[in-house]
Amino acid sequence: MKINLAKSAGFCFGVKRALSIAFETLKTAKNIEMLGDLVHNEDVVTMVKEAGIKKIHRLRNGKNKTLLIRAHGTCNTTLANAKKMGYKIIDATCPMVKEIHTIGCDMEKKGYKIIIIGDKKHDEVRGIIGQLKYKPIVISKFKDLKSPAIRHLKKAAIISQSTQELSKVLKMIHSLKHVIPELKFFNTICQPTRSKQREIKKMPTKNDTMIIIGSKTSANTKRLYSISKKLNKKSYWIQSEKDINPRWFYGTKSVGITAGASTPNSTTQNVIAKIKKIELKNI
Ligand code: SF4
Repeated sequence: MKINLAKSAGFCFGVKRALSIAFETLKTAKNIEMLGDLVHNEDVVTMVKEAGIKKIHRLRNGKNKTLLIRAHGTCNTTLANAKKMGYKIIDATCPMVKEIHTIGCDMEKKGYKIIIIGDKKHDEVRGIIGQLKYKPIVISKFKDLKSPAIRHLKKAAIISQSTQELSKVLKMIHSLKHVIPELKFFNTICQPTRSKQREIKKMPTKNDTMIIIGSKTSANTKRLYSISKKLNKKSYWIQSEKDINPRWFYGTKSVGITAGASTPNSTTQNVIAKIKKIELKNI
């Protein structure tokens, strides 16, 4: 059985950077807190917790404390409140998310209504909304395109969550073009996401079985899985090697493997080792 690992599998640049900032901060600061999880992956969350970074749900007294801003970014109000409460801020927001903030704010200043294509409840989208002066329109599903708020717009600028699927975004823009006279689109899907999506559009057609590794809380892993499943019914979404069912590999000559942006390399390697063991048993 041939094992083909996607070149883009695993940690993206932004997650690697956020982790390295977190561990650098640990060398010099005590009482480090973080609003929510650093990334959407249980193993990474445990590792960060064990290293001494505390997850909090709301800001409290920040005296002698450091607040670590996650790769997804946050809103201006949270930053301002944290500073007021005395927190020292360490910002691990991914530069590609920051770029989305900049574009949104610039276009808003130029008088464009901001439309965000992304998951309404995702922290990254909440962070983008929180950077803007006026309330943007968020489109998560195709049915949101029918919103009355869109019908009367004269000019709008579209930005997207960094991990959205390009083909879905383009379809949405196509339909918005018929409604909004002046429409500007900024493709803010980040480079690592584009590489992952490029690969996942080919791999399921070239491999008998596909394994997609990542947490069930990871939106980008979910997207990789749904693209793969459409192209190859034998696509399986697992969190670790423990989820593997040997029966998936009966008659499989080649297996394609990819992993979400917050999946550690060690998890992927454990999955590969388990698949190799299954193969040996079958010989
Ligand atoms: S998925 Fe893209 S935008 Fe998000 S952290 Fe990774 S590189 Fe940055």
